[in-house]
Formats: sequence, C-alpha cells, structure tokens
Amino acid sequence: MSLPRVVAVDPASPAARAGLQPGDEIVAVNGQSPRDVIEYRFLTDEPEVELDVSRGGLDVTLTIEKDAGAPLGAEIESALFDRVRTCDNHCEFCFIYQLPKGMRRSLYLKDDDYRLSFLYGNFTTLTRFTEADLERVVTEHLSPLYVSIHSTDPAVRADMLRNRRGATSLRWLRLLLDHGIEVHGQVVVCPGINDGGVLHDTMAGVLDVYPELASVAVVPLGVSRYSNEPSMRPHTQAEAAAVLDCVEEWQPAFLTALGRRLVFAADEYYLLAERPFPAPEAYEGFPMHEDGIGMARAFELALHGDADGIRPQSGFFAAVDGAPAEGYRATRAAGTVTLLPRAGAPVAVLTGEYGARVLRPLLPDVRIVVVRNEFFGGNIGVTGLMVGADVARTLADQPTGHRYLLPDVCLSQGRFLDGMTVDDLPQAVEVVPTDGASLRRALAA
Ligand code: SF4
Repeated sequence: MSLPRVVAVDPASPAARAGLQPGDEIVAVNGQSPRDVIEYRFLTDEPEVELDVSRGGLDVTLTIEKDAGAPLGAEIESALFDRVRTCDNHCEFCFIYQLPKGMRRSLYLKDDDYRLSFLYGNFTTLTRFTEADLERVVTEHLSPLYVSIHSTDPAVRADMLRNRRGATSLRWLRLLLDHGIEVHGQVVVCPGINDGGVLHDTMAGVLDVYPELASVAVVPLGVSRYSNEPSMRPHTQAEAAAVLDCVEEWQPAFLTALGRRLVFAADEYYLLAERPFPAPEAYEGFPMHEDGIGMARAFELALHGDADGIRPQSGFFAAVDGAPAEGYRATRAAGTVTLLPRAGAPVAVLTGEYGARVLRPLLPDVRIVVVRNEFFGGNIGVTGLMVGADVARTLADQPTGHRYLLPDVCLSQGRFLDGMTVDDLPQAVEVVPTDGASLRRALAA
C-alpha cells in the first residue's frame, strides 16, 4: 500500500490553514490509515481531523479544525492507496486490447474495482467481487454502482467475458439490489453473439430477476483497426435497427410492469440505423448520459436553452474534493471555455463523424469540420475518441484566421488520447465543454 500523496491544496481551505503542503504523504487520519479516497473522505468528515503526514522523511502532525462534513481542501494523487483490482476477464470486444502500443499507461489498465465504479462510474463485471466487498458497499452505502451485464444467460456471459466466473457473478448484482444499492447496468452488444434472441432473453432476464436496476444502457461494441478478434465486427444498419426494435419493444413492457422504461439504446444505434432520436422525455432524466444514451437530445435541449447543460455527474466526486479520475474519466481540459480574442472571425466546430451527424441539423449555419478517426480506424466515429494527430491533420487543411471550437470530451487532463496537446496543433483552437449550453455561449462570443 502506498501513502496517499497530496498534489494540491486549496489556499483558502482548512488544510492550507493547518499547514498541509503539496508533496506531503498522509500516514494516518485520526489514527487510521485509509485504503482509498472513500475512507479518507469519511475519516476527514469530522470537525477535528488529526493528520499524521510524512514530509521529506520527517513525521509531522497537523490538527485541522473545520465544520463537520466540510472538505479539507486537499487533492490526493490517486483514488486508491492500495492496489487497484484489475479484471480477470478477456472479453473479445475489450477496447483496451484494441489500443495501439505506446499510449499512456493508465489507458491500458483493465480495472474491475467496485470502488472506481462508485467514484467515477466505471463499469464492473463483479467477477472479482467478494463477500467483504458486499459488506463494505452496504455498510458505507457506496451507491450508485455501474455493472456490465452483457447477457443474463450464464453461458453467454461467461463466453463473452472468457471467464467461467462470468456465469455466476451476477448473483452479486442480485444481492446489491437486495440491499438497496442503486445499480445502473450496461449491455455491450456484439453482433452475432448477444444480439437477436439473446438480447431479447436479456431484457426478459432483467425484468424477471433484476427489475430494481435503475437503468440499462444498450451500447454497440467499438472495433478499432487494431482488433485481433475475427468474430468482432461493427453492426450493419439492419442489425442496428434490430437492436432498436428490441429495446423499443421492451420499453413498454418495463413501463407497464415498473412504471419506467428502464432500458435505453445508445445514440450511436439511431445514427447507424438512420432513425430519429427518441423525444427527450423518453430518456427519463438521462441517467446514462455519459454512456452515450440521450447525449444528442440533451445537447439539443441545452443548445436551445431548455436545460443548463447536462454534464458528467457519475460518481462521488461530483460532490466532494479528493483524487481526480484517471484514464477516460479524467478531468478534461483545465478551465472551462478558452476564448481567444477573435470575435467576428468565421467560426467552425471540430467534431467526430457521429458528432457531425448530430450537429449539422442543429446548427445549419455553422461550419462543421469533421475529424475522421484514422488513428483508431474501424467504426470509431465518436468525438470522445478524436486524437491530436487526426485533429492536426484536419486543421492543417483548414483556412487560417477562423475560430475553431474543440469539444473538451476528447481531452483528458489537457491531453488527447495520443498524448498530444492543443498547443501541438497547427492552428489555435478554443476548448469548449461538451454540452449544448457551452457551445451556444461559445458561438455567441
Ligand atoms: S471486463 Fe472490461 S476491462 Fe476487463 S476484459 Fe472485459 S471489457 Fe476489458
């Protein structure tokens, strides 16, 4: 177990007043060594907090007084102070196996840790979940959690995860629901594997066995040009339409039985099938917005000023201070809208192929510049996977003197997935939070 290291201290915080400094390593909080930032947060909830820290090899004790429940105001380097639990599955559709070599190490981490599910909304398969984990989740009410279901048929699920424990690990899902934990599920659909009759059976399984699920997102697999799995392929238009038919057939059944639709198809399916997105109210509050469910409709609402921008909200750190997420859940760009003083210049929005199909009808008077994803290739067209090299290649062919708006969803701590930054691009861009309200403000600037 490594000691949690402080990386930043808010100058106006109780931690700063008590003398906590970046670089300090926290040995104990009120006499206890936290295993992760969840325990750290609970321990620092008290009005009086005694911190034992190691500073340059010296032991220092700090006493912090604050209101009960108020944050200390310190940021910790990582969320887990013991080892992250990695997954023991080998899913054919796993996108981590489809990454090229040489990317940031954190992107190759196959985590399957319920704590990261609680903290950042990462999905867990529960194949490594234990009785002790259940006890902790229930005792500390670590809710909501996000669980990969894929299929409720034990044999299909075990085959998809390539792990025999996949056949039985959904028993933990039942127990989590029994204890009142809110759980959002996900089904990654692989054509020819868990679509068709298997998907219908999964819907029936959800209704029969897991009706307390808060929502189930049905999303298509992504296939990059680095995939080595011959049986993994993108959906055809007809297959995408069949998935939508299945979801839309089951939604009324859930509505009748449970009073809510429960299951939702990813926006990508509507684009693939060339069907209109459902009405905003059909998304029932956009519970799986971050999983690509209802993003287009939420964006449209915010763009027109009908909602103030539905932003990522998964996890504990929507509300408290602590460790920033890593990998694909990491903080996007520093700051919010970076506007350059070029008011009056023609404006263009950079976006992926799917993003362009959403934006064009919404912004008929705005130039949309499509960034083709040659880095990943395959069927990868989502804006969140745009990389610096593709944006740079696209921008190099664009006129100078224009404003170029870049959605921040393709950045992680200021970097594209390929490690480039906006400073490496051949033209200046303005980084804009990826929601309709922010784009509206940026376009009006
Ligand atoms: S469970 Fe997730 S991380 Fe693990 S192999 Fe499957 S897709 Fe990859």
